[in-house]
Amino acid sequence: MSLLPLVGHSDLQARLAGAADSGRIPQSLLFRGPPGIGKQRLALWLASLVQCAAGDRPCGRCTSCRLAADLQHPDVHWFFPLPSPTKVSGDRRREKLEEARLEELEARRANPLWPTTGDEAASIFLPIVEEIRAKAVRRPAMGRSSVFVIGDAERMVPQASSPEAANAFLKLLEEPPPDTLVFLTSSRPGALLPTIRSRVLQVRVTPPPLEAAQAFLVQYAGLSEGEAALAVRRTDGSIGSVLALSSGDGADPRVEADRLLACALKGSRADRLRVAAGYPPAGARGAFSGMLEALETSLRDAAAVAAGMPEAALDAGVGDRIGEVRSLAPERLAEAVGHVEAARDAAAGNGNPETIVSVLLADLSNALGIVSRNAQPNISARDGTDSRFLHIMEDYG
Ligand SMILES: [Zn+2]
Repeated sequence: MSLLPLVGHSDLQARLAGAADSGRIPQSLLFRGPPGIGKQRLALWLASLVQCAAGDRPCGRCTSCRLAADLQHPDVHWFFPLPSPTKVSGDRRREKLEEARLEELEARRANPLWPTTGDEAASIFLPIVEEIRAKAVRRPAMGRSSVFVIGDAERMVPQASSPEAANAFLKLLEEPPPDTLVFLTSSRPGALLPTIRSRVLQVRVTPPPLEAAQAFLVQYAGLSEGEAALAVRRTDGSIGSVLALSSGDGADPRVEADRLLACALKGSRADRLRVAAGYPPAGARGAFSGMLEALETSLRDAAAVAAGMPEAALDAGVGDRIGEVRSLAPERLAEAVGHVEAARDAAAGNGNPETIVSVLLADLSNALGIVSRNAQPNISARDGTDSRFLHIMEDYG
């Protein structure tokens, strides 16, 4: 197998091809845009265009194009965050990380539908940057340039306290060897060091049209028309997020956030406890905070709509996510946002996810649910609901 077609970015591709034809591709570019919409695929496409020797680039037929499509081109180097190797140090660490990168490339060759994962432990560690710099000073093996595609580039600073990798990378951007091109991608460009941001030309990548994403998923990922249509609406056209969901490799945090919100609105106290018990008592920090962030975003969007902002001003797909919550009073939604903020603080302080969710669901339920002041004891007894938390949820949906 080789790389699958790039879909839904033809306007941007035309602009980039035009720039390349007139020799105006800058030495460093940053493709920014939402996760899973094809930014790295686009950067790889541009890399193959740069390497292609034909007139109508990339031709897709020459040796260079075929090698690039197969992730085998000696002058197209694709880097991305990797988990930290354990129990190794020094040069051995760099070797291990390079081995892991080659293995991942092999896996992507075998299955070009790689999902967008939320593995926050993966980073672009200093030894990876050293590997990039070592490759950058070598002359291209067969092409006219060496091209570096660096996905999720904001992971170069996993913690503010260890900016070494980003600083080492900065040196490469400051004094790039001739014939070296660096294409970064990021869905969180704000997390890049400002000094890196200021040295790259930013290219905004928008999600593919939903029909294009849907057709791609039907053709290559085996989804039915209906499944694909729903999935692209829920993810705003993020093919990578849909693949993550269907592979179970890492869920779209928005889907889990929707589930929590639905439970807070309509679930009984027993439901809420059951959902909370599904969270681990420790760990799972990255995905967990991503989910809380998504929940906060949904509630903020709902508050904006409830306060009168036209839904059209929000991102596509928001309407589906915020659902009935938008009809609640803005003050209630603001209160709910405050509860999520508190939960995010607790999560950042390494709190126990199970407890955090349990408290959050009760708080959200109080803030958003229609609490009966005169709960009927028999209803309370039926589902074991504490009357203080009782919703008249039957009136709700
Ligand atoms: Zn070619």
